Formats: sequence, structure tokens, C-alpha cells
Amino acid sequence: MANLKLNGVELHVGFDDVDSPRGGCTTDLVSEIAIKWSKRGVKFIDYPNLVRLNPAIPWKTRGNGALSLRVLAESYELAKDMCSEAISISEDYVAEFTHLKRSPHVVCFIGHVPGELESMGEKAVRDVVLIDEALSIVEKHLPKVITWSNSSNRRGLIGALAAVGNRLTKDHTYELIAYRSRDYWGTPRLIDPVSVFKMDEETGGLTFLNVDKEANRILIAPHGPDPILFGIRGEEPSALIKALSIVKTGEPIAKWIIFRTNQATDEHLKRVRNLCEAYAYTGVIAVGRVSRDPRIIAGGHVILTIADECGEVDAAAYEPTEDFRGIVKELKPGDVVEVYGVVRPPSSIHGKTINLEKIRVIKLAEVLRQLNPICPKCGRRMTSSGKGKGFKCTYCGYRDPTASKVVVIEKRRVAEGWYQPPPRAFKHLMKPLERFGREKSGWSGVMIEKWHS
Ligand SMILES: [Zn+2]
Repeated sequence: MANLKLNGVELHVGFDDVDSPRGGCTTDLVSEIAIKWSKRGVKFIDYPNLVRLNPAIPWKTRGNGALSLRVLAESYELAKDMCSEAISISEDYVAEFTHLKRSPHVVCFIGHVPGELESMGEKAVRDVVLIDEALSIVEKHLPKVITWSNSSNRRGLIGALAAVGNRLTKDHTYELIAYRSRDYWGTPRLIDPVSVFKMDEETGGLTFLNVDKEANRILIAPHGPDPILFGIRGEEPSALIKALSIVKTGEPIAKWIIFRTNQATDEHLKRVRNLCEAYAYTGVIAVGRVSRDPRIIAGGHVILTIADECGEVDAAAYEPTEDFRGIVKELKPGDVVEVYGVVRPPSSIHGKTINLEKIRVIKLAEVLRQLNPICPKCGRRMTSSGKGKGFKCTYCGYRDPTASKVVVIEKRRVAEGWYQPPPRAFKHLMKPLERFGREKSGWSGVMIEKWHS
């Protein structure tokens, strides 16, 4: 990256929403170009990047992932030629494909990525980037920026440009994606679950979210008609290569490739100073005090209300998070919690709501309960004899006209600490607790020799 001496002209190509009419996806197209270029001897300065963008944005593109290729060309002219080639392959990929909901875009940037584009790329993960912001960056850097789309919808431009801008300079992970050969698209995936559990065991800690032990389910395979056979997520490329050698499939792997990504990093979350800064369409980490008893609403979702000196906001644990809801439900007014999640704007039926992705119970409040006194003769709980008349025991007949209620500290069914939803409810950017302490502070710029098939 910045500290590397590079001989040649940098070319960064960003892609977003480039699906094919046959059920392809952007990662399939990008891996096709990457493998083609790599086999031709093109010098890559990074693994293909898979940048997951702000999941709080309702008008996001499918899968919410944008990609980029970063290579070194021998000259400005050759960089331009390679850009044309990437565009031409993308054009073929989406051929005869017009869909109002798709906004395929390719953006080339020739030269070193400028700071303002890097900032835009990071902003697109945790905040809202407007089309005008993207267009003004493009215009400012012409002719070093070349854009292509077959859609009048500009949404994909933001993603493709953000994928060029976000250099994954802080925490990052890797994903090895294996693809199906075309004859198998749309058929059930044949992956030996035993081998996936074995792989999880043998690469423990260096790969994650492979399986859901509680549900006895593998998580590496998607379910749709897309060309992905499976994806293995991990901390280091070498661990992914090992994982690949352990997983057994009943169908051929057409190709595989390693992406560097912001998945499982919580890059979409920003710590806010108070609840007023929890703006709609952003991801936040916020501390508050539980201000009401949690409530269960239609659909089985649990709503927690937290407050601070600045205001009150709801936080929701949705039904698919299953047991996680049980933890949230046990919280009581006065508990201090740190919530992680993206903010939904208010609607006619609910206020501004943080969709809970994780929670830390920082401090449990002492919940006091007033109980009737215990009978000193038989040990059972007495009942009131009437206002100001003390208590009586209905079992043995003992009476004490001077007895009064006793105050006890309620035993809580939740402990201080971290809680997260089960693995099967995880979304791309959510950092599992297992990754805490494994965060990376940068990238060496060194790639392993064999990073694709
Ligand atoms: Zn008694």
C-alpha cells in the first residue's frame, strides 16, 4: 500500500450489482476477470476486495457487497486497455439483462487512490453516501476515472466507487469462495456436512461461522440459485487453503478464489457519544440505561428501551435471533448496556429503533422485591391479614399482627457480559465474539503464491 514502492501505474476496478441473467453474481464475474488476468501474469497489488456496504440502507443493491481488483499496469495506456477489457467482460456478463432493480456498474480508477475517495469508501460502509457525492468525485478526477453502466439507475455507481475507495486498511478478514460449474446451477448443493464440521475443528479459530453446532447445521453454503458452491471465512489465506483441502463435495469445484474483505469486522458500526447521535441509516455502538421493562411484540420480537441524558431509543432483538431474545427479555430498568446495531428510522408504528446485533450487559441493577414474610413456625410464606393488621399463616394458623413485608434482592437470570445471536442469524459485517482480540491493524501487502485455482 502506501509504503510499498510500486513500479508501474495502479489500476483499481470497482464492481457493483453485476448479476447475470443466468443467475450469476458480482463475485463470480470478478473472480473470472481476476483469474484470467493473474494467469496472464498481471501483477496484483491486493487480493480481490469484497467490501460489504452499509446494511442499514434500504435501497442497497443485492447482497450489499461491492468488489474491486487492484493491479499494476506497465503504463497508463495499458491500464486503460485493461479497464476496457474489464468493462467488456462485464457487458457480456449482463448481456440481454435489463432489470429495473439492478444497477450494474464498473468504475476504473487509474493511479493511486486519493484520500477523499478512501474516505468515501469508508463512509459507504457506515453512513449514507449520496449520488451527488459520488458524481462529484468522478468529475473531479476525470479522465483518471472511467465508469460504465447499462442502467440509468446510479445506485451501483456508489457501490463500485466505494469498493475502489475502501482499501480495507484496518481490521479485515478473508473469504475463500468456491464456485459451481454451470451444469449444476440451480440444483441442490452436495457438500459433505461431516467434512465441514471436521474442517471447522481442524482450522479452529482461524476460520469462523462455518457451522452452527446447536442447530447441527453447516453455514458455508448459500441456498439460492447463484453460482457459489460454498464460502469459507477466516483470518488468514493459508488457513482457508487448508480448510478447502478438508471440505468434501459431491460435485466438481469449477474455480476458487480468495477475497480480502471487511466481513465480520463490525466496520459498519461507529461508537456514538450519546443516543441523540444514533442517526437513522447508520450503524452504532451506544451505551444506555434500560428505562422500561422489555416487551414482546407481534412476531415474537423483543423490544428493549434504553435512555441516557440525551434521549430514549428502542432496540429490537428480532425473532430469527432466537435465544438471544431471551437474554434481552431478562433485562430490567436500571441495567446499563452497550448495544450494537444499525438504526432504523421511525415509522407510524414504531420509534427510531436499533436492530440489535450484539449486546454487552455492563452493569446489572439491583432489583428489589417486597415479599410477604416467612412463617417462623412452618417456614411457608404468610399472607396479609389486612391493611395494618400484620400477617397470618394459612398453613399452620400462626399470626403476627406486627409483621411487615420484607425486601429481597431479586436473583437475576442474566449475567454481566457479552451476548450475540446464534451463528445462523449472523449477517455479513457482524463481528462474532470469537473474533474479539484477533482484529488486525493493517495489511502487510504480501499475498500468498496460490490465491486462486
Ligand atoms: Zn406457618
